[in-house]
Amino acid sequence: MSKLIIAGQLLKEIAGGVCGIVPGVVVVQDEVITDIIEQVIPASADAGGEQALICPGFIDAHLHLPQFDIVGAHGLRLMNWLSEVTFPAEERWNDPCFAADMTRWAAQQLLASGTTAFAGYATVHHDATRAAMKCVESLGMKAAVGQVLMNRNANPALCRSTSQLLQEAASLADAYPPDGRVEFAVTPRFAIACTDDLLVGAGALAAEKRALIQTHLAETIPECQRVSELFDGEGYVDVYRRARLLTKKSVLAHCIHMQADDMHALSETNSVAAHCPVANSFLGAGSMNRSQLQDCGVRLALGSDIGAGYERSMVRVARAMIETAAAIGADFPTAAEAWHRITAGNSDALGWPEVGRLRVGASADLLVVEPDIPWLTTRVDPLAMLMFGWDDRWIRQTMVRGKSCFRRE
Ligand SMILES: [Zn+2]
Repeated sequence: MSKLIIAGQLLKEIAGGVCGIVPGVVVVQDEVITDIIEQVIPASADAGGEQALICPGFIDAHLHLPQFDIVGAHGLRLMNWLSEVTFPAEERWNDPCFAADMTRWAAQQLLASGTTAFAGYATVHHDATRAAMKCVESLGMKAAVGQVLMNRNANPALCRSTSQLLQEAASLADAYPPDGRVEFAVTPRFAIACTDDLLVGAGALAAEKRALIQTHLAETIPECQRVSELFDGEGYVDVYRRARLLTKKSVLAHCIHMQADDMHALSETNSVAAHCPVANSFLGAGSMNRSQLQDCGVRLALGSDIGAGYERSMVRVARAMIETAAAIGADFPTAAEAWHRITAGNSDALGWPEVGRLRVGASADLLVVEPDIPWLTTRVDPLAMLMFGWDDRWIRQTMVRGKSCFRRE
């Protein structure tokens, strides 16, 4: 493959979990970044230019592929939103062709919004999950995808037996091992929809296959109360811990209604709390106290949670993260920290060193962004100006493994 020279202002990780900007050139060859030259912008390049932002593709740590066409079902609380809108939508994945078409469409939306890597849920349907994973693989995106495990408290069409679910999950885990570009994630939806034996089986399967685990935790107060009823008074976090679902490869979405002990359990097990601020405000679930979790030593990630989350753009999700923290009077991240979160930060949280950073040897998953605002001459912090003034139309090109997979002329 021929060499590509991409020039502009490079979004670069600097020490301490923040990003900065440095002018330079990224050289891409054979799917990877082979060189980075700083402080020079050549007169001619294959893409970019002096005013362009060159950044790693964004990483979304939590989304649902079958929910891309139910975004905007406003006015419902979590449990009603699930039963009235979400479960009927997920039933359509009974047809694997429908699932493949929808995944392709969803992936195109992600790529157009600058997201090149994600951890996502499919549905309880095995063939549909396989079709979705195949589709994501064909697009070259970096992803973890899971067949959702549910055996109770959902529409009957979406419940399967424990043994069938664990068998099907094991076969997908073998087909998509953890070191692959697309990997399988063990995905019990949440404790309400899983019996104890299913949760325990899921934990054992993840340990055996060294697989990523994704689930939901403490999104709403009624949900936490229901878990306590279903598990004889046991705490939500304790249920997961006993089932060996809290590991350094566990991504737990929401983590809003947490006691100090709960946060310590996440910290002790090195589990990751995936903050989904847009979805949380949409469903009126509450606000995660991000800085409190961080002070407890809990590792964090950030997700869109489409379709309760209505923002596809991880830049706007990052902005919501800042605004949520400010609204509850907590310490809020700077724009430089927020840019780091949706790139290198989420890469670390998901254990994906090959994406999320512009560095030699990394997969050439990157964006050429041409803002139409004076971001380089402003008196405002340029990264804050970009984040708060963000417009998806600035994305000229999204590259995955050195190949252009979205272009806006
Ligand atoms: Zn979710």
